[in-house]
Amino acid sequence: MDKKGILIVVSGFSGSGKGTLMKALMKKYPENYALSISATTRQPREGETDGKEYFFISKEEFEKMIANSELIEYAKYVENYYGTPRDYVERQLESGKDVILEIEIQGALKVKKAFPDTLLLFITPPTAQELRSRLVGRGTETLDVIESRMDRACEEAEGMDQYDYLIVNDDLDTCVEEVHQIIRGEHHRSTRN
Ligand code: 5GP
Repeated sequence: MDKKGILIVVSGFSGSGKGTLMKALMKKYPENYALSISATTRQPREGETDGKEYFFISKEEFEKMIANSELIEYAKYVENYYGTPRDYVERQLESGKDVILEIEIQGALKVKKAFPDTLLLFITPPTAQELRSRLVGRGTETLDVIESRMDRACEEAEGMDQYDYLIVNDDLDTCVEEVHQIIRGEHHRSTRN
């Protein structure tokens, strides 16, 4: 393994299955990767635990983190703030692990600007119908929120060409392997430069 890890940003429409994909990647290759846990002002969904999926904090606490430069980046997404705590990411990179940030496009572009070596991956479901049915099937959002998330998906589609790879999430196992191989390739490339 290289001395220092690579920063990898994974974005994708809400409902693209990127969360499930990243969990599967971590499970298969726990030695290689660390998944950053973001802070958010959104309410936890059923089954979500503080400190596991997110650090669920108040708007005041979030603003304090911004003021203290404790976040690498942050963005507003459908009425809530989301941000990446700096400390964990830096420690994991130093220890040689690749750190995965599962964040939306505004944050992704900020990270790329601050850390130009970041690898940007965009995950998409096979079709728009599949996207909507995943969002509805999840049953965790109201119809209004689903519509806002679909609108946001259309906006984000325009930024897709700024990513290094577009990955169609059809079959989970295949996709896990594809992502792993892309990252291995990036290690190879960066050690040659
Ligand atoms: P969700 O509410 O579905 O968990 O997340 C909504 C969106 O916020 C997703 O696109 C997710 O990737 C993004 N997100 C999660 N954490 C962060 C973060 O720390 N920073 C940014 N910019 N986006 C995030």
